[in-house]
Amino acid sequence: MIKNQYNVKDAKKWRGVNKSSPADQSLGERIYTSQLIGKNPDLVMHGGGNTSVKVERYNLFGELESVLHVKGSGWDLDTIEAPGLPGVRLDPLLKLRKLKSLSDEDMVNVQRNNLLDSASPNPSVETLLHAFLPHKFVDHTHATPFLILANLPNASEVCKKIFGDRLGIVPYIMPGFDLAKKAVEIYEENPNVEGLLLLNHGHFTFSDTAKKSYDRIVGHTNEVAEYFKLESSTEIGSRSKTKDLYFLPVFRGIIAELNGEKDEAMPVFDLRNNINIINFLKRKDVRKLETKGMASPDHVLRTKGKPIFLEQTDVKKGRIGIEKKVLGFKTDYRKYFQRQAPKASEVKKILKADPKHAWIEDFGALGIGVNAKAASAAADLAEQNILVRSIGEDFGGFNPLKEKDMFDCEYWSLEQAKLGKGNSPQFQGKIVIVTGGAGTIGLSVAKAFSRLGANLLLVDNNGDHLERALKQLTPWDASIACDITKKGSAEKIMDAVIWNFGGVDILISNAGTATSGALTELEDDKFRQAFELNFFAHKQCAIEAAKVMKLQNRGGQILFNISKQAVNPGSNMGAYGLPKAATMFLMRQLALELGEDRIRVNGINADRIRSGLLTDNFIKSRASSRGVSEDIYMQGNLLRQEVKASHVADGFIALAQMDRTTGHVLTVDGGNTAAELR
Ligand code: ZN
Repeated sequence: MIKNQYNVKDAKKWRGVNKSSPADQSLGERIYTSQLIGKNPDLVMHGGGNTSVKVERYNLFGELESVLHVKGSGWDLDTIEAPGLPGVRLDPLLKLRKLKSLSDEDMVNVQRNNLLDSASPNPSVETLLHAFLPHKFVDHTHATPFLILANLPNASEVCKKIFGDRLGIVPYIMPGFDLAKKAVEIYEENPNVEGLLLLNHGHFTFSDTAKKSYDRIVGHTNEVAEYFKLESSTEIGSRSKTKDLYFLPVFRGIIAELNGEKDEAMPVFDLRNNINIINFLKRKDVRKLETKGMASPDHVLRTKGKPIFLEQTDVKKGRIGIEKKVLGFKTDYRKYFQRQAPKASEVKKILKADPKHAWIEDFGALGIGVNAKAASAAADLAEQNILVRSIGEDFGGFNPLKEKDMFDCEYWSLEQAKLGKGNSPQFQGKIVIVTGGAGTIGLSVAKAFSRLGANLLLVDNNGDHLERALKQLTPWDASIACDITKKGSAEKIMDAVIWNFGGVDILISNAGTATSGALTELEDDKFRQAFELNFFAHKQCAIEAAKVMKLQNRGGQILFNISKQAVNPGSNMGAYGLPKAATMFLMRQLALELGEDRIRVNGINADRIRSGLLTDNFIKSRASSRGVSEDIYMQGNLLRQEVKASHVADGFIALAQMDRTTGHVLTVDGGNTAAELR
């Protein structure tokens, strides 16, 4: 059962956020209940669902105008703010209703032309439906129970059984002008309805107050859930760690190969494996359900019309088995395009034939995306679809969109227009491991890669530090706390990166420690310990990462944080310099051995960076022993400029961008003749 979260005090607060006008008060409350809806994954997921409010505002001439604030594209309800609900002049929208037909392009154009703020995002494709309904507040969701209901073969009959005449029933029409007209017609046939069921699509409610419309969203959804005996929440997103996932990097590489892209672009995975999913994949009718289509038109863009289904035997066969399935998926997808494209009113260009979600027998449902965020969205929808299919099938049948309708959504001109537009960030689709990821340099490097679109796995031995570091990245990044000098740690890290993302593209082997002391005086144990972290851990992580990269068969990169000590000894720094020198040789050796796998191996020699190794206290004592200020000490290089962690991060980014460079050491030390390599 979904809990009604409406709280009078909170609503009042939101109404008061902008005290200036009644319009802003209504908008405040609109934001409040939109977020309430968005925050409940049982109601709304990933841009699915939209809300609106109608208000009156004065324009520049002092005239009062009706304005519709409706969800803009690119915003999710759970985090929506005022700019995510752009204002559109309502009267011009209402005038459209008189038209017999309206192209999507014209519809979008009219909507954009009437924005109060020309810089706003595009209003939702369901804007006209919101506009045509006369109510002040309108809410729309694709909640799981409603999707089950909306896809039953006898959906209208069951809807009447549950709601009597309280819901209007709208036949399936693609979102846009025609759907808006039909929906409002149905509403007008019985203006007493509390909402609408959109067949094969979702649910609308409306009212003159935000509270009442929200109450109806929650109430109706619970009524349907009760009918289908859905007692607990759907637990979408829950997963429990599992082993033997080394087929995922193989799968990842094969999909990338299929897309025929440069090494840069690899899909990212999100595996969901709660017991309901595992059991669903064991159903006798699973093959039938596989090809049936998605539960809502909004899903198709993120999930494609069907999953790729890897059965136990495919996974067992490894590369050959998986490759065969991926090629089969591609062939089927092309056939689907060839069947449907000629029926379209305009020329369509085929999209990539790669799967967007997978069913994997014994392992679960897999979201596949251009990055971890997209993979997670696809995984959520994959899970929801499994739930809808299994319950629907048990309650009379899962009877979703026909192939043609699905094609129309997937190849919608509005969506096609977006293709090829917008540059994706440079490291989108790259999965990067950073060891010592919670330290000053490690975190700085992680943030630099994150800013360029990569997804990160941070590794550190301090769990608390990791938690704090992770907060500075995106919600889709991950971490693992472990002591990388312990046997088996490198394998654990690879398990974690595959579990979280499906593979790895770049290892930043960064963790290190500076053991000081003259070699003649240093205890042998300490010396050996220094080798454990500054050499053996690097070696082990690099070798295990290379194994995963080889499974992907799409190249990769290993970048070491070495040190100028590797070539330029400092007094009392032997226990640091010796293993670092070995690590530099390791870099060269691996560059030689991994070159034919297109795995590039490079390193950074940095020096004198404020960090956990070079602490403020240490700097103080060094500076005073040389009789200079701390600043002068830190600027002790050819450029007379302090070198910071961010400069080291820039160095790693530069190396990661240098497609034809391997076996190279880049210095990031402000210039030091004695530490120059060539
Ligand atoms: Zn919708």
